[in-house]
Amino acid sequence: MRKPELKRITAALRQLTPVQRKIVALELASLDAQPASVTIAESRFAVKATCPHCESERTIRHGHANGLQRYRCRVCGKTFSALTGTPLSGLHKRGWWLGQAEALRDGLTLHQVADTLNIHVSTAHRWRHRFLTLPKAIQPRALTGIAEADETMFLLSFKGKRNGLDRKARKRGGKAAKRGLSQEQVPVLVARDRSGVTMDCVLQAMDTPSMYAALKPFLTEDVVLCTDGSLALAGAARQLGVEHHAVKLSAGIRVDGAWHVQNVNAYHSRLKAWVSKFRGVATCYLENYLGWFRALDREHGNGPKPAQWLALALGGVV
Ligand SMILES: [Zn+2]
Repeated sequence: MRKPELKRITAALRQLTPVQRKIVALELASLDAQPASVTIAESRFAVKATCPHCESERTIRHGHANGLQRYRCRVCGKTFSALTGTPLSGLHKRGWWLGQAEALRDGLTLHQVADTLNIHVSTAHRWRHRFLTLPKAIQPRALTGIAEADETMFLLSFKGKRNGLDRKARKRGGKAAKRGLSQEQVPVLVARDRSGVTMDCVLQAMDTPSMYAALKPFLTEDVVLCTDGSLALAGAARQLGVEHHAVKLSAGIRVDGAWHVQNVNAYHSRLKAWVSKFRGVATCYLENYLGWFRALDREHGNGPKPAQWLALALGGVV
């Protein structure tokens, strides 16, 4: 930029209101932060660029496009960048991606993100779920030692999708009309071992086949499963062939020596308290929130740093 133009801009800055000055400051900060986001994105291909179209590694550098290194695949002939095929492909304002990653670390609400980054609430919503698309699938490899398993309920919610509902929209964060399990609730199974390693997922149904399918990938044969005595979980434990101890909560017994479900129930409480600040989550995004909280809870609450959140959103492993 030529000096006279720069002078005109700096002169114009003096006419800004405090709010407008804040917007300009945010834009400048975003420009400063952009290279860091690009560096994290491009580090995916630091060793070798894999073609997202055919997964070949026979790729070569092929100029630049949109501020990113471009590659060309020698097998399928297509070009791509480190963002092609990732959930963040097509998202603008890369300078704010680390800000969005910070918002995930801090558990900010959409309005807080919109205010902090000067973006529209609908953009904050889109970014949140694009960023969580891949992290939601990250589960532990295996639970070991004593593992507690118990289900908890979330309200069925069509938040943000009012059309086509066959009942009146419930007030945000409202209560189910019926107590206990009803069609208005979505069951979530949580299993947590005594070292704090946790898996959880939305259950298709509250029956043995669903619990078996949910637990099977995470339980090795030498795990000792502890539950509150639900018949469905007992059936799943039998099918899994693992040692099982049921605490008879219905008989008023909460702890029986080493056998209890207090860790997993404490996790339920923390998860629910954390989710409640979002004032009801749409059921179609529930897995995203479960994955988000699981990540925050990892390493005894020392979840991913912002740069790691961005890497995870792009499919990296932390
Ligand atoms: Zn290819």
